[in-house]
Amino acid sequence: MQRYPRVEINTDKLFQNARVILETCRAEGIDVTAVTKVTCAHPVVVQTLVRAGCSSLGDSRLRNLRSIRKQAPEVELVLLRLPMLSLVDEVVRWADLSLNSDITTLRALDAAAGRAGTTHGAILMVDVGDLREGMWPDEVADICKEVRELPHLKVKGVGTNLACYGGVRPQEENMRALLESREVASGILGHPIDLVSGGNSANWLLVESGDMPDAINHLRIGEALLLGCESVERTCIRGTADDVFTVCAEVIEARVKPSMPIGDLGQDAFGNLPVFEDCGLHRRAIVAVGRQDAVPEGLRPQMKGVKILGASSDHMILDVENADGSVEVGDVLRFTVRGYSSLLAVFTSEYLSKVTV
Ligand SMILES: *Cc1c(COP(=O)(O)O)cnc(C)c1O
Repeated sequence: MQRYPRVEINTDKLFQNARVILETCRAEGIDVTAVTKVTCAHPVVVQTLVRAGCSSLGDSRLRNLRSIRKQAPEVELVLLRLPMLSLVDEVVRWADLSLNSDITTLRALDAAAGRAGTTHGAILMVDVGDLREGMWPDEVADICKEVRELPHLKVKGVGTNLACYGGVRPQEENMRALLESREVASGILGHPIDLVSGGNSANWLLVESGDMPDAINHLRIGEALLLGCESVERTCIRGTADDVFTVCAEVIEARVKPSMPIGDLGQDAFGNLPVFEDCGLHRRAIVAVGRQDAVPEGLRPQMKGVKILGASSDHMILDVENADGSVEVGDVLRFTVRGYSSLLAVFTSEYLSKVTV
């Protein structure tokens, strides 16, 4: 019995994507932490990435790190979201490395590592302009003076994150600012800092063009691996597949309706005032999948001529007037997952079953 809606994970394509990303980065002297958070660290995704040679995995949730640790005890685990002070004991238990910007948290991690009898690795996050996480470059020296006194904490790297909140593009200048922070930090800590983590999938264009400063030797990459595109212009990455994930949903209504709603128009289910174009009577279909399961703007119908008109929580409405095949109640339509927020919803929704192909 097939259950719908569901998402199909094409493991061959994911494997291929991981190989391309790892090899391209390796040729530029860049190590990769493969980021699993958008897929909630789904076991099939984790196993495929590990099989493709990913030896470091990153996630923003401790629950996901714990599940990866159980499946793949040998891989390095990186906690991507700044640790919560209330969870430092779990952080040192499940993560080899965490990204940090706060001295109170660093002290608490040191104490937790002491209690656990281990040393915890930290990457110091520096904000070079995107205004999400990170200390200012001029704070690095003072924070390192304090970190120097923490016996169970080892600064393994410096890092930055761009193009997430502010949409700031990774460029040579902000990468150089990060490198300067590395010099300051290693000067004060008195040991070399090997890892310089320049960012995420938004850094791909720099890698490809060869404009990444040589000293940047690490990236944390999710979207590029999973969706086969970089995240500044959302262009496809050569050699990768852009259709690793496919949502399959069943048609629950199909009939001809006007393209203009009938009656006075107020807000739709999500508080928007919808706008319609009158193109007369069209054949439409409803599939049993909604915004709770996927973001319609991030889906691409695989049947030619099918157009997504919109979606509410659990209905997606399609124009199938010009569809390349017949669309009847009970048929299953397929949609390639193209958008990051759609992929996020797909894996977070419990209502979609996850299937490997
Ligand atoms: C999510 C995340 C990444 C990965 O981002 P992608 O755009 O998916 O490559 C990297 N670093 C941090 C800190 C993140 O939170």
